[in-house]
Amino acid sequence: MSPTMKDRKYAAWVAKEKRKSTFHSFDWFLLVNALFSFYLFLQRLGSGLYESLSHLLRSAPAISGVMLVSFVTYMVLRVLRPYGEKARWWGLIASVTVLSLCWCAAFHHLIVMDNVTLVYPLLIGLVFASLIPFYLSPLLLCLFTIPILVMSISENIILRGAASVANVFSYLLMLFLIYSAKRMLEKWFMLAIERERENKQLIDRLGKLANRDPLTGLANRRYFSNYFDSVFSREAESREPFAIILLDVDFFKKYNDHYGHQMGDECLIRLAECFENSVRRSQDLVARYGGEEFIILLPKADRAEAIAVAERIKSQVAAIAIPHEGSDVGQWVTVSQGIALWRADVGREQLVEMADKALYQTKANGRNGYTLAEKG
Ligand code: GH3
Ligand code: MG
Ligand code: MG
Repeated sequence: MSPTMKDRKYAAWVAKEKRKSTFHSFDWFLLVNALFSFYLFLQRLGSGLYESLSHLLRSAPAISGVMLVSFVTYMVLRVLRPYGEKARWWGLIASVTVLSLCWCAAFHHLIVMDNVTLVYPLLIGLVFASLIPFYLSPLLLCLFTIPILVMSISENIILRGAASVANVFSYLLMLFLIYSAKRMLEKWFMLAIERERENKQLIDRLGKLANRDPLTGLANRRYFSNYFDSVFSREAESREPFAIILLDVDFFKKYNDHYGHQMGDECLIRLAECFENSVRRSQDLVARYGGEEFIILLPKADRAEAIAVAERIKSQVAAIAIPHEGSDVGQWVTVSQGIALWRADVGREQLVEMADKALYQTKANGRNGYTLAEKG
């Protein structure tokens, strides 16, 4: 993967994680809005001016609006869930905008009614609460906080003439606190997801190591065993044919004795490559079974296809012509193969046994060839 593509993929992943985190804490923010509006209703109720609940709700439409929008957004985000992230994101933007405008109207009402002492604690509480879900989204943070801040600060200055140096300083202090808290939270978030990514990569790498043979890079016996289990139950259930081939390098002990262990390793690597080039498609699996033995799983392969693979292996091993002076078969490295085809009455272990017997037969027949397992 090119570096720019990697960067783009990383940026897309970070953006997705950020959205996930925003969605995650948004329900809490809706609850905070609902509770704040509830608190304002309680305040009004305490004044004893209202005859009924509907009178109370109608007397403060903006505060009722906050309550209603919080509830409706909670429901709408759930309804939008099957329509994907984009639809939910637009739902979020619309809801944040309406909530912000409702709060503007509510604060305007309070300022006009000369209830300013209520406005500022609520305003600060709301703005800082909005940092929790929106610190990763400057758009949502601005949509929510800017209208409220601009409205309440300008009304305070225009209507109440509160334009002292100390007041201006307090507004600037609030902006600084919002900005620095946002930066700090974002830093923690990036640190957390970076750690998570490293852990995922590590688990991935360990998983691969656990499934690979370190010398040849082929699947190891452990991986083969799991893959074999899944293919066996799938193919046996659908009654599809499939085959396995067990392979063993001929006179490999003599090869090691003659050329040394290092050269023996090189030989196994080249043979592994050769086997991989001889199988049919990506679903065929070549694995190192142990030592100089290999196993190949051929899903959906009938007799003819399995024999064709064995033939290809024989000719390709001959084509790479690795010298083997100690071999009794000839002057090149050769392999013996045992093929077993699955039948309805054959179990998993039995199939491997059949391939093993067929391999033994090939050895007995003079090596460098293959035998198809006998029935029964
Ligand atoms: P046959 O033709 O009957 O299969 O005889 P063979 O010599 O191939 O079989 P044997 O089982 O007697 O010897 C297998 C040898 O494979 C012995 C062992 O040292 C060697 N071997 C197993 N694993 C490795 C490996 O990872 N690297 C190297 N270089 N040699 C290995
Ligand atoms: Mg062997
Ligand atoms: Mg051998």
